[in-house]
Amino acid sequence: MSTRGDFTSEVLITREQLAQRVKELGKQITEDYKGEQLLLVGILKGSVPFMADLMREIDLDLAIDFMSVSSYGSSTKSSGVVRIIKDLDTGIEGKNVLIVEDIIDTGLTLHYLKNYLSGRQPKSLKICSILDKPSRRKVEIEGDYIGFTVEDKYIVGYGLDMDQHYRNLPYISWIRVKE
Ligand code: 5GP
Repeated sequence: MSTRGDFTSEVLITREQLAQRVKELGKQITEDYKGEQLLLVGILKGSVPFMADLMREIDLDLAIDFMSVSSYGSSTKSSGVVRIIKDLDTGIEGKNVLIVEDIIDTGLTLHYLKNYLSGRQPKSLKICSILDKPSRRKVEIEGDYIGFTVEDKYIVGYGLDMDQHYRNLPYISWIRVKE
């Protein structure tokens, strides 16, 4: 537990635990898509560290692309509004697409994205998220590959931010803002 000015934080998932779990996910994905090509679609910016680690644990003919959507503003509450800021550079028709996310929280972002991308007739469309916060779900959506399930706490690190800070932490921490 550490205290920095107006909030306290505690490490939830260590760097070593992340590395181990990402390795397992990569192995599972490699087995599941054996003999197939795969397109990883990272959702900016939170997925960046996870995407970089995960892609190196997957032993397949693989390509990557990124999308940027807005779901959170600078506040810690979901607006429920999903807006596409950057779309894919490549077509996905007939491809195996795996969306790579940092966290599934309300599920609104991925629910929207899954519908949006499935309209482009991919061969398959699945979701891989390093974190899942099922207690906060507002729409029915499940990840196909999940790293860790977490409680309803505000998480930072390993790509996750608080007002754009802390994405570079190599571990996952929860933050409690002092009243
Ligand atoms: P959802 O649409 O599932 O509610 O949330 C999507 C996005 O909200 C995530 O990709 C993430 O960027 C942000 N988010 C949700 N929960 C948290 C959290 O606990 N911490 C941080 N830093 N971002 C979160």
